[in-house]
Amino acid sequence: MRTIDHLIAGEASSGGGGARSGDVFDPNTGQVQARVTLGTQADLDRAVAAAEAAQPGWAATNPQRRARVLFRFKELVEAQMEPLAQLLSSEHGKVIADSKGDIQRGLDVVEFACGVPHLLKGDYTAGAGPGIDVYSMRTPVGIGAGITPFNFPAMIPLWMSAVAIACGNAFILKPSERDPSVPVRLAELFREAGLPDGILQVVHGDKQMVDAILDHPAIGAVSFVGSSDIAHYVYSRGVAAGKRVQAMGGAKNHGIVMPDADLDQVVEDLAGAAFGSAGERCMALPVVVPVGDRTADALREKLIPAIHALRVGVSTDRQAQYGPVVNAAHKARVEGWIQKGVDEGAELVVDGRGFSLQGHEQGFFIGPSLFDRVTSAMESYREEIFGPVLQIVRAPDFETAVRLPSEHQYGNGVAIFTRNGHAAREFAARVNVGMVGINVPIPVPVAYHSFGGWKRSGFGDHNQHGMDGVRFWTRVKTITQRWPDGDAALSHGSEDGAAARVSDAFVIPTMG
Ligand code: NAD
Repeated sequence: MRTIDHLIAGEASSGGGGARSGDVFDPNTGQVQARVTLGTQADLDRAVAAAEAAQPGWAATNPQRRARVLFRFKELVEAQMEPLAQLLSSEHGKVIADSKGDIQRGLDVVEFACGVPHLLKGDYTAGAGPGIDVYSMRTPVGIGAGITPFNFPAMIPLWMSAVAIACGNAFILKPSERDPSVPVRLAELFREAGLPDGILQVVHGDKQMVDAILDHPAIGAVSFVGSSDIAHYVYSRGVAAGKRVQAMGGAKNHGIVMPDADLDQVVEDLAGAAFGSAGERCMALPVVVPVGDRTADALREKLIPAIHALRVGVSTDRQAQYGPVVNAAHKARVEGWIQKGVDEGAELVVDGRGFSLQGHEQGFFIGPSLFDRVTSAMESYREEIFGPVLQIVRAPDFETAVRLPSEHQYGNGVAIFTRNGHAAREFAARVNVGMVGINVPIPVPVAYHSFGGWKRSGFGDHNQHGMDGVRFWTRVKTITQRWPDGDAALSHGSEDGAAARVSDAFVIPTMG
């Protein structure tokens, strides 16, 4: 059986003797297709040693040369798009079009990071005092680490690594152990693009490896994306160890549907936003909030046939809207939430449980589900389900519709569907959520803006990518300098007064 190894100091490494390993499934068949090495402190120590050896030279490489490596990497990934998407789908289960989207969204951040010479330019104040100039520069943190979830195995590692590397850091990635192949492949392509060994390394593992990263004194910054409890744990432990930490957590995004919304468009948007990628997206829209019962009834009537028309298939089925969920445990968890909703008194309008795909009976498929009359008191509303389940929460008025997402424990994304500019503007200004869509169901900011949620969806101060990414992966050093006239080094031995003239030459331009 294929084994998936670490990539340390430019070489595949299976770790020491007696290393543990984990199963990597093909969610389409339910079969184990590979085993991933689960690393130890010793593996991390080797990666850190390689990073320490390589990072000063990389940081001293001028930023335009570093950017050229990113440009080459982008071209290599584009040339490999199809096999990379196939590999991604085979471990995650999302359909090929979604896998390509996953890779492309990561490349968008690579493109952004190609502008690093401009992004790293500091500030300068001439004449802050008599003969005094002040300037600031962005210097790399040194060695950074990223710990990533299973649901975007290309995009999220690239959110972090592209910006970290561009800024002159060495970066150690600990990808999800459920679909670890694409992150390794991306690191190999970075090598092929000319990235020095030790600058981007991949160590696999579970909690043991995460704890080793959080406690390692040589790692200065940790970026995490995953579920909220673990995000909070990573944030607290990392900060206690004196590190800079950003930790993005779970989500429960709401879509507000105003009475004047284009319902056909909303239904089309929801089909993708609630069920695409089997609902395994932190920017999915699993809660829809129609305002007024007439809106709710009309929306429900249109949603039911649209949901029945969704095609669930293997990830290579080009006609399928979505594929299986990632593993059997997650399938059981999602189905458990559906039962919980029923037990709590919500109306299960479409039941996706018991779905079986002919020829793939062991695959981790779940049909689409729709609940109506879900309330904010229900646990199945308050918690993240992360599956192909859409919940209708009816709101009597606009104020309730603003309050629901604002008071929810998660605050990642939210959307409002309306033709009324004033309602949209008012909603965007008041809602207590980090990313807002106006007639945009999945408002993921473009790469040169920043991605990040509020409340239990994000711990730490800086968002991912955009200028916030640059801020996270660099430290600002500020220099206050004074060069007194008649500097000793210049005036030494200058009997003919040459030093004074040199000094004047410096002074004249700033004097204007
Ligand atoms: P997860 O929290 O189970 O795993 C994330 C990472 O943490 C993995 O690398 C995993 O190995 C590690 N990990 C798992 N258990 C751990 C433990 N006990 N201690 C330390 N580390 C541990 O998340 P997942 O299931 O892979 O991904 C889905 C979750 O990620 C969802 O909650 C989703 O909303 C969230 N997510 C959030 C964003 C965002 O930007 N806010 C983006 C994508 C996914």
